[in-house]
Amino acid sequence: MRFLITGGAGFIGSHLSEDLLAAGHSVVAIDDLSTGRMHNVESVSNNKEFQLVVESITNTTVMDRLVSECDIIVHLAAAVGVELIVRSPVHTIETNVMGTENVLRTARRYRKKILIASTSEIYGKLNNVPFKEDDDSLMGATTRHRWAYATSKALDEFLALAYHKEMGLPVVIFRLFNTIGPRQRGRYGMVVPRFVSQALSGSDITVYGDGNQSRCFCDVRDVIPAIKSLAESSEAEGRVFNIGAKDEISILDLARKVKDMCNSQSKIILVPYEQATEEGFEDMRRRIPDISRINDLIGWNPSIALDDTIADIIKQFKEDGLSDTITELPNGERVVVD
Ligand code: UDP
Repeated sequence: MRFLITGGAGFIGSHLSEDLLAAGHSVVAIDDLSTGRMHNVESVSNNKEFQLVVESITNTTVMDRLVSECDIIVHLAAAVGVELIVRSPVHTIETNVMGTENVLRTARRYRKKILIASTSEIYGKLNNVPFKEDDDSLMGATTRHRWAYATSKALDEFLALAYHKEMGLPVVIFRLFNTIGPRQRGRYGMVVPRFVSQALSGSDITVYGDGNQSRCFCDVRDVIPAIKSLAESSEAEGRVFNIGAKDEISILDLARKVKDMCNSQSKIILVPYEQATEEGFEDMRRRIPDISRINDLIGWNPSIALDDTIADIIKQFKEDGLSDTITELPNGERVVVD
């Protein structure tokens, strides 16, 4: 099959491209390299079944040609990362709404199956974990920019499901829960690469809030087979699926784990949210997926342990020579925990 992967040079897109090529498919990646990197696709750049088009998904002419030539689309291109979203809300909304609209409209023109990446942010401030796909969402006020991301992705989901309902377009939506792994960078906010980068360089490990908020981290190499199976399943069409791990860890325990695994002398400090992000920032305390739907359909379960993923991320950071740059936080009150 010929796959078109939007955001194909990003963290998840590059892993998916590699995997599909290894399985004998051909891949065209479109990426504007805003957060994606050439470095991510170096391992496949000489493969004649791989092509990278450096362009925005809002370019209608280019998207028309690429969609007409592919068999299936995996739409991963998006503005992601809490830091990026809070810093550049216009870019986030425009990319996630207009970009997806263009991809869907073009998919419809050529009647191509399309898988759309969405996010666990959709559940918002709900606290009835684990989250099921048909649960309500609880968004914050429009004056809190964080929620622009979830709201833009919710609109993407509505539009995709509407294309399915009204026009029979084969669409599949998957909501990713804190995907981590080699190649992810911390500069847009993601906590694990930030902690690894901080621990390896000996700078303070910055835990936001009280550190008792928790997440379930899923290795990207577990996520890729789930996306591939959904692509192959006609029963997945018109439906929404959670993809994530179920083991929960507090962010403070995560900081301690990363510090230990890096043999780091870094201090672990607590940073109030308003200093780390924006005034009135709202975080989610817990976020756990219910994965029974995807398990029932394709028998998927994640299997890679968090320690193994973190070890691989540390290895990659060492190989890359600590290339991640993280925005300095403003001065202010800090509590040293460890
Ligand atoms: N976080 C943190 N320090 C950092 C970056 C993030 O304590 O340097 C926290 C963040 O407040 C959240 C959790 O780590 O509670 C996960 O953040 P991330 O941005 O990775 O994903 P989110 O779950 O917020 O989408």
